[in-house]
Amino acid sequence: MKSGALLCSECGGKLVVNSYYQRYVIESDGFRQKIKIMQTLCVEKTCGKTHAILPHFVTPHKRYSTAVIEQVVLSFKESGGLKNSDCPAEDKTMRGWTKQFELRGKIAANQLQKILYDQFGRLASMIKLIDLKLIQRLKVLVTEFEELKAVKCSSLIGSINIILSRYSSGFI
Ligand SMILES: [Zn+2]
Repeated sequence: MKSGALLCSECGGKLVVNSYYQRYVIESDGFRQKIKIMQTLCVEKTCGKTHAILPHFVTPHKRYSTAVIEQVVLSFKESGGLKNSDCPAEDKTMRGWTKQFELRGKIAANQLQKILYDQFGRLASMIKLIDLKLIQRLKVLVTEFEELKAVKCSSLIGSINIILSRYSSGFI
């Protein structure tokens, strides 16, 4: 099992802190919160890639907080629409989040299964997982990681992003 140290997703080299930058995340009430993001640099000279280390409540390339996005996606999946959403984002934006979750969620589920097997030697029951809807499937997989003490985060998307950025590359 690999340690929790931060490694370059391109080459597996060690990452060191390079700089910090600021960005905003928008909360559900529309409040723009300023946060500090750590940027790391791969020490391998042939690589030298920089990677931003995002807190769990920030989704890459998204202005809204992960919690806001998750709430919209989950309620969309449960009620089949955006009727009861009080999110300040535009409908088009929220539909985009849901679509992206569908696409990336499936890839994430496969990656989570692979990490469980490669890193922890655990085989998630495919038969059990196949019958479940995407969100349930992701929840079952994240619970496995929680049992292994590999992640502890109240948000589903946040947990997935933590696991994927630690043991694999990418994010949901
Ligand atoms: Zn690298």
